[in-house]
Amino acid sequence: MSEEKGEYRGKATMEKITSLAKRRGFVFQSSEIYGGQNGAWDYGPLGVELKNRIAGAWWKEMTQLHDNIAGLDAAILMHPRVWEASGHVENFTDPLVDCKKCKTRFRSDQIPPENLARKECPECGGELTDTRKFNLMFKSHIGPAEDSAGIIYLRPETAQGIYVNYKNIIQSNRMKIPFGIAQTGKAFRNEIVTKNFIFRTCEFEQMEMQYFVKPGTDTEWFDEWKKRRWAYYEKLGVRMDRLRWHRHGPDELAHYAKDAYDIEYLFPMGWRELEGIHNRSNYDLSRHAEYSGKDLKYIDQDNNERYLPFIIETSAGLTRTLLMILCDAYDEETVVPEKKQGSEGMGEAAASGGEQRTVLRFHPALAPITAAVLPLMKKDGLAELAEDIRAELKEDFSTDYDQAGAIGRRYRRQDEAGTPFCVTVDYQTKEDNTVTLRFRDSMEQTRIPRAELAERIRREIKSWGRKDTM
Ligand code: ATP
Repeated sequence: MSEEKGEYRGKATMEKITSLAKRRGFVFQSSEIYGGQNGAWDYGPLGVELKNRIAGAWWKEMTQLHDNIAGLDAAILMHPRVWEASGHVENFTDPLVDCKKCKTRFRSDQIPPENLARKECPECGGELTDTRKFNLMFKSHIGPAEDSAGIIYLRPETAQGIYVNYKNIIQSNRMKIPFGIAQTGKAFRNEIVTKNFIFRTCEFEQMEMQYFVKPGTDTEWFDEWKKRRWAYYEKLGVRMDRLRWHRHGPDELAHYAKDAYDIEYLFPMGWRELEGIHNRSNYDLSRHAEYSGKDLKYIDQDNNERYLPFIIETSAGLTRTLLMILCDAYDEETVVPEKKQGSEGMGEAAASGGEQRTVLRFHPALAPITAAVLPLMKKDGLAELAEDIRAELKEDFSTDYDQAGAIGRRYRRQDEAGTPFCVTVDYQTKEDNTVTLRFRDSMEQTRIPRAELAERIRREIKSWGRKDTM
């Protein structure tokens, strides 16, 4: 994929996103106190919630909403023959060059062709080595002896776990073609260049679905899955003018692919792949049949036919989607300082002019915290009342409680965490059991009976739409 810079129309930069992610506990550098581990990141309290919700939304979309797609959770460690059959041992390589002077390592398809031709380092002008192939699979040993008999790989994709289980799933679940198998899980690649935060890492998570179809119907299903995956991002509330299609040219096609499209997103560093939709033909199943010696043909009893199905794959990165969601949600704006309705002088000092707020405009169904309950004051029983309201909301939503500092500042903290709803508890709550519901995006506030709170939040989540543009 080309690494050219695209025009970015958002306010986010990778530096701002990385810094916010750390500050608010979305993503930390792995082993930070030891100077960090390249290509690995840790998901903090807000990050793990966001990641789980993204995976949950995908899972619902790909399994619950289809009668003919089943789930699977295959092991990361697989028989080493799997990776010979899949072609990964032979073909899963990147072309690599090193600079002899500054020792920087590059993927040779990612440096300007003129540098490659002149064998000149794009960083320091030093001499480059010849290009050599570098296999991206992490190799280890299983068992006590470190010999070739014990070689084991960390899976570089989740898909193969699906192919080797396809017969099990047909038999145990009486699946009939066309049908799909969906899986999310970790994958590992020894990536040469791991820049851009969590965009490309050595340890990451994928969300893959393999759809098994009758040969001859594959083009039709390929088009159908392209449509469905595009519509999914729309449903997720993603800014659709930051998405585009990229079709793989003949020299880009993977060894297994008959046709392939990427959905690309306009990240701050340019257009980059978010998800791949591939027509993998019957390559994988024919190879596994050959290498395992097992008959993997599908038996169509209704039509008295036997054939190797074609596979349409939708393959998205979960951790990469999380980065996309952060970039998509990120916004900065100048606002008039807020105060809680009807509480003159209680809010943040009514400074003249605007103040800057950073806000993550997550779809409320993805936001790590759905509702934060904030007592206006700690005293006079307001804290206890707020805790009580939170306890009630907890059953249905992920909640937060914050009583520290001025109310305006607390709203800002929740904006930065992307919390779509704040519930403010004040003296009037004590009198008439009403609370103030404050909306993250518009900053509007409305007073409603406490008894209607949960239902109102549920309705707001369902009807949410992105109102701002870039
Ligand atoms: P690239 O060409 O950018 O290396 P790829 O085409 O090899 O990626 P696929 O094998 O199609 O990627 O993987 C499917 C999806 O998995 C990608 O669209 C991406 O979202 C995710 N993915 C792949 N490699 C990584 C990685 N190193 N870190 C994070 N996510 C990844």
